[in-house]
Amino acid sequence: MAIFIKNDEQIALMRIAGKIVARTHEHLSKFIKAGITTGELNSIAEDFIRSNDAKPTFLGYRGFPKAICTSVNNEVIHGIPGLRKLLNGDIISIDLGVCYKRFHGDAARTFAVGDIDQKHRELLDVAEKSFFAGIELCTAENNLHDVSAAIDDYVKPYGFGIVTEWCGHGIGRQLHEDPQIPHTRQAKRGPRLRRGMTLAIEPMINLGSSKVSTMNDNWTVITRDGEYSAHYENTVLVTDGTAEVLTL
Ligand code: MG
Repeated sequence: MAIFIKNDEQIALMRIAGKIVARTHEHLSKFIKAGITTGELNSIAEDFIRSNDAKPTFLGYRGFPKAICTSVNNEVIHGIPGLRKLLNGDIISIDLGVCYKRFHGDAARTFAVGDIDQKHRELLDVAEKSFFAGIELCTAENNLHDVSAAIDDYVKPYGFGIVTEWCGHGIGRQLHEDPQIPHTRQAKRGPRLRRGMTLAIEPMINLGSSKVSTMNDNWTVITRDGEYSAHYENTVLVTDGTAEVLTL
């Protein structure tokens, strides 16, 4: 496993890519309401990314047909934007990546559509907070799986399922680089974290069981029990202190 350490110049580009990711999410959030289709959200995101001199990383990635992933309710990740109209009470996870001067940023958020159930509100909140519990431990000289364990420990009291079949990842010139980042406690400590590593940490939290499967479109990952799922991800830079979040 080779984990690429980024130099200052590369980090500067990743900060820009990360900012564009953050601004795209902020821009999209204004359009998330009942009646809009996931395909319309995709177009809004793609236009915005291109107007910032960047490219949508996901478009064409291993054949993915759209610029962003839109996963509604029981869909966990990799939902394909299309004609589906959002309804009041839905939740939608939007995952997007941008490439700026050959470096990538990647982040996901789960949004509420109108008024949602209290239990879904809590699910969104726990997914987001579990990420921040994880990056408390994401510092040079710690080990990668310290981060995984912190996420697991945060989620456990709520009884939600943490997806284990899909992981976070290193990121840089490639969308997916080493290491793979589990979001549950591991038997081994994992690689030592070093300043200059850039990681996409992305807990996927299910209201019910952690079990997931992939739909016939070969992309959309759904919960097996049909319960809702939330996704929260940022690209971070490992430093000597708490990791710097590049996509906020
Ligand atoms: Mg992502």
